[in-house]
Amino acid sequence: MIRDTLHLITLPLGEWNTNCYLLVAGGESIIIDPAAEEERILAGVEGTAVKTILLTHAHRDHVLALDKVRRATGAPLGIHPSDSAAFEIVGDFEIIDGDVVPLGEGQLIVAHTPGHTPGSVCFRFDRRAIVGDTLFPGGPGHSTTPRALAQLLSTLREKVFAWPDETAFYPGHGAGSTIGAVRPAFETFMTRPRPAHFCGHVEWV
Ligand SMILES: [Zn+2]
Ligand SMILES: [Zn+2]
Repeated sequence: MIRDTLHLITLPLGEWNTNCYLLVAGGESIIIDPAAEEERILAGVEGTAVKTILLTHAHRDHVLALDKVRRATGAPLGIHPSDSAAFEIVGDFEIIDGDVVPLGEGQLIVAHTPGHTPGSVCFRFDRRAIVGDTLFPGGPGHSTTPRALAQLLSTLREKVFAWPDETAFYPGHGAGSTIGAVRPAFETFMTRPRPAHFCGHVEWV
């Protein structure tokens, strides 16, 4: 049996119910997407040493409490360079594909998954993954152009759906699912022809 090394707390915050994820292990914690309501985030990590703040991507609804949480914790901010440039948020360190972020006895592995934004990333640990707005149970994340949708779909095919079926994923809004549960809908979607200008809010069915 595989033992979970990290304790995961989900906080849906703000008017978009954006999920902020707290990871706790061995008296240390990581805050992913400080979306809003900083007092709830800070209460969630109280009594732990906040090692880092990480962003799945830099859309406004995922960073509304970022400045306050940075100030209150003094923890360094990690962001992918493409979203740092696109959204003009200066981090303390860059997170890129393949990076490993240690926490307690566990670790997060960074996967660069562009498409929803150029610097979107997912964080994998213990057969779980925090995926931001890259993947939802009902479809891919929102895409602003047909090119972005094409990029997102190839990201999903090459990286996200390469994960084992039992991988539980945790999206930026609402409840998650497992890779195996969504795989049939994704595979069917990928075989269907799509209009050339297809993008935006896309669903598998
Ligand atoms: Zn987003
Ligand atoms: Zn979002």
